[in-house]
Amino acid sequence: IGYPFGKLDIIAVPEFGYGAMENAGAITFRDVLLLLDPATTSIDVRRMSTSVISHELAHQWFGNIVTPAWWDDIWLNEAFATWMEYHIVQQVRPDQAADLQRADQALDAMERDALPSARQIRQPIDTNDAIYGAFDGITYAKGMAVLGMFEAYVGADSFRKAIALHLTKFRFGNATAEDFFASVSEGTGKELTPALRSFIEQNGLPQVELSLACANKESPKVTLRQSRFLPILEAGDTKHHWQIPVCVRSDASQACWMLDRVDQTNALHTKTCPKWVMPNANAIGYYRFALDADALRALVTAAADGKLAQTETMALASNVRAGLYNGTVSARAALDAATVFLRSNNHQVVSFARDILVTIREIIDAGMLGKFEMWTRTMLPADISLEVIAGEDDERHLTRVIRAEIAIVLARDQALRTKAQKKGELALAALEKGQPLGSVISIDLLPTVLSTTLDVGGPQVHERIAALLGKTTDSALRRYLLLTLAYSHDSGLAEKSAELMLDPRVRSNETRAVLFPLSHTRETRPVVWRFVQTHFDDYIAKVSLLHQGLTPLLTADFCTPESVNEVEHFFVPKLDTMAGGARSLLVATETISACAAMANTQRDSAHGVLWGFKPPRT
Ligand SMILES: [Zn+2]
Repeated sequence: IGYPFGKLDIIAVPEFGYGAMENAGAITFRDVLLLLDPATTSIDVRRMSTSVISHELAHQWFGNIVTPAWWDDIWLNEAFATWMEYHIVQQVRPDQAADLQRADQALDAMERDALPSARQIRQPIDTNDAIYGAFDGITYAKGMAVLGMFEAYVGADSFRKAIALHLTKFRFGNATAEDFFASVSEGTGKELTPALRSFIEQNGLPQVELSLACANKESPKVTLRQSRFLPILEAGDTKHHWQIPVCVRSDASQACWMLDRVDQTNALHTKTCPKWVMPNANAIGYYRFALDADALRALVTAAADGKLAQTETMALASNVRAGLYNGTVSARAALDAATVFLRSNNHQVVSFARDILVTIREIIDAGMLGKFEMWTRTMLPADISLEVIAGEDDERHLTRVIRAEIAIVLARDQALRTKAQKKGELALAALEKGQPLGSVISIDLLPTVLSTTLDVGGPQVHERIAALLGKTTDSALRRYLLLTLAYSHDSGLAEKSAELMLDPRVRSNETRAVLFPLSHTRETRPVVWRFVQTHFDDYIAKVSLLHQGLTPLLTADFCTPESVNEVEHFFVPKLDTMAGGARSLLVATETISACAAMANTQRDSAHGVLWGFKPPRT
């Protein structure tokens, strides 16, 4: 189906409040996504640029050729554009590992979908507020993941034919989800409507519990059992039921089934008992999985031995962290697994290891932080270089960047921090003279490295960074300077950083880049909270309508039951001033409760690991 609009322009707009807007034939983008300097742009920004451009191009078909009849079906635009995005990137830029980015985004959606109040992909819309709420990770990423799962289930060719049929049938008209379900069933010759509805018109996230039984001379039997994934103590509707395409891979075989009952036992096509079983082959299924402790350990060992696909190791790592929240994985098992993930060659897997560590850091007593840092330092590979390495491939580079962040920010590795501080000083001086960073440091390492210079130099260095923000219009560089401010754990500096968000040197669409990361860290979170309470009106006046509604999420990383009351008390009277604020507030309070319950369940286990830990003698 050809491009129908005659011409196509892409236009960079400074201070654009959104990522991009897919106007037919004239797409507007936030400047940072289009105005890239090949010499200085980070891998991260380059990838984001390719993805967003692909996404907006896809909208010319999904949105502009066929338009949803009403806002409840905005997923027919956004889920499809996101799903197409990865197909396009995979073809035009195979070096950007679209399959890994896809898996990463799908796993991220599962985090949001775990809350009791999670939105449906197709959610009735009866207020203007609800329209704002619809542009979230559920619509985009869960929608994309669900489409990808059914695409894999029917086969890519068959699915493509069904989509083409749909676009032809409704060309320059409006379509609803029902129309789309009918097109899929007609185009693929399979009645998939009930299965699709179970994901698109029902909220929440399925968990598939897998158990394996091996008997002599018989094919091993796999029992799958579905339930709703919910954090400990969260009161959500547990009567949810899905029709889930499940694919299971082991060292001996692979098999796929439609899990449409609560539990189901199937035989594997092999006679040998598998050493390990991966309950979500290629991480294409939209579900969490649970295994008993031995089976989990076997799967982590398989990952360590390189037996899993990269997407599978990502799904495993993400599952391990999620398991802390619903109690299917202990802190001890999660930390054991993290030692394997920290050594992965895939930067997303290392990022999941970091997320596990950040979660544990959050729930341990303050007196245990030193032990935690020592543990983390010991588990990291020793040779973390901060140098610019010519010709280094993207994945290797990104992995090194994330390990350096863990070593410097989480493990407080003193030797590395000293090196970083000197490099940060050089980088800052170069930037002040308007010189390229060149051989000093690669741009993606700038926030990590410069944050150590900031920690040592204090308010004086803070002011130098602020002055640079007043000078440079390079959006990508600005992004990294802002992130630098967020990497400091110093609460005094965090206060200055928060205040800076109201300064004209910081653009309205940049405030989040500092406040959200600062809110993720136990030392600086109270500062952000005080800032929001003190400067609420000024903050709301500065940010875009969409971001106003997200303000309550700045409190979502609190982890005690008392915080829930405090946060509600403050925001409830203000909900009228924030479009979509009610939903964000609910997400924030549910996230806080989930963390508090998880902390109570897992704290002793985490302390046990750290108490028992003896650093190796050097
Ligand atoms: Zn879009």
